[in-house]
Amino acid sequence: MKENIVIIGGGVAGLEAAARLIRLGYSPIIVEKQDHLGGHLAEWHCLFPDMTPASDITAHLVGEVSDANIFTSTEILFINHLKDSYNVMLSNGISIITKVILFTTGFRLFEASRKEEYGYGIYNQVITNRDLEHWFNTGEDARISSKPMEAVGFVHCVGSRDEKAGNAQCSKVCCITAVKQAIEMKKKFPEAMVYCFYMDLRMFGKKYEDFYISAQRDYGVRFIRGRVSEVSENIEGKVVVKAEDTLAGKPVRVTLDLLVLMAGMVCNPDSTKVASMISLQTDSDGFLKSKDNIMDITSSSRSGIFYAGACTGPKTVPETLAEARSAALDIHNFIESL
Ligand SMILES: Cc1cc2nc3c(=O)[nH]c(=O)nc-3n(C[C@H](O)[C@H](O)[C@H](O)COP(=O)(O)OP(=O)(O)OC[C@H]3O[C@@H](n4cnc5c(N)ncnc54)[C@H](O)[C@@H]3O)c2cc1C
Ligand code: SF4
Repeated sequence: MKENIVIIGGGVAGLEAAARLIRLGYSPIIVEKQDHLGGHLAEWHCLFPDMTPASDITAHLVGEVSDANIFTSTEILFINHLKDSYNVMLSNGISIITKVILFTTGFRLFEASRKEEYGYGIYNQVITNRDLEHWFNTGEDARISSKPMEAVGFVHCVGSRDEKAGNAQCSKVCCITAVKQAIEMKKKFPEAMVYCFYMDLRMFGKKYEDFYISAQRDYGVRFIRGRVSEVSENIEGKVVVKAEDTLAGKPVRVTLDLLVLMAGMVCNPDSTKVASMISLQTDSDGFLKSKDNIMDITSSSRSGIFYAGACTGPKTVPETLAEARSAALDIHNFIESL
């Protein structure tokens, strides 16, 4: 079919939407600013709650779009709104006239060093959820010893549910990611004590509650309800964490070999920059604003502009896949109606 469709972003959402559009007979054009496809999924080790290797899902999604036109290491220079179409100018000098643009520009991880009190970038043994995934994948991180660890801690809600950090929303995936990472650490270091410091546990998805119970029952992960009040480093280079255990009603002090900060999902400035080229609205949380949060989550308020995945807010991979499929169908119906 002749109609051009530009997909901005080659992560889970962009790849799945492209695959579905190809099946419907279109030849979508994917524009990805990084030099590879997969988005954040390409950084993760295995996925909750089934521990599916993330690389299998990435390889499957990339394999499905072999017939798409793909520009990697390419950015959007500008978008002009013409009478009934858009002119999209790419950094490789190619200009595309299209009636349909799908934003699948995803999210950014909260910059953990902004929460100075947790010591990321200050204390050597404080890392983020992303750093830990990198280590699971590559085994490369000088901060993580291959020697048996005695104690590891996870801090939930880093840069989420935190008005001072400019993000009052829950990032949705980090409670269950902490459970997953805690289990993975227990598998690697069975003798280690593993603690999760949380405010509330949000186990909203299918099998998540089972996964959380298994972390306690089968792996002995200890969940401590209470905010971390202080992080410091002792003379041996270990991390000392003080918190208030609000269930037991007493203060806790633990010394750890590693502290992992569960940095949240925040809006992607690359997304808002491109969106502002055609005056698309952003929400109070900075993510792109859907036409409606119930019936029309994949539509924008502008004709021919669609959204899918984490560019409109924190999402899991299955939710992102479902939105991408839905957006592909909406695009098909839109083109049919032209
Ligand atoms: C630590 C962590 C672990 C997670 N683990 C899991 C898990 O186990 N299971 C699960 O279901 N979910 C998990 N998630 C959530 C999962 O990462 C997201 O659901 C998924 O990445 C969303 O995909 P996306 O395509 O919408 O966005 P992204 O993955 O962010 O992809 C967006 C893509 O768009 C590109 N892009 C952005 N702006 C532009 C631009 N202007 N021009 C060109 N390209 C652009 C980016 O480079 C990127 O490739 C995890 C999240 C975190 C933070
Ligand atoms: S999912 Fe859990 S860790 Fe993440 S912001 Fe929500 S409550 Fe905090």
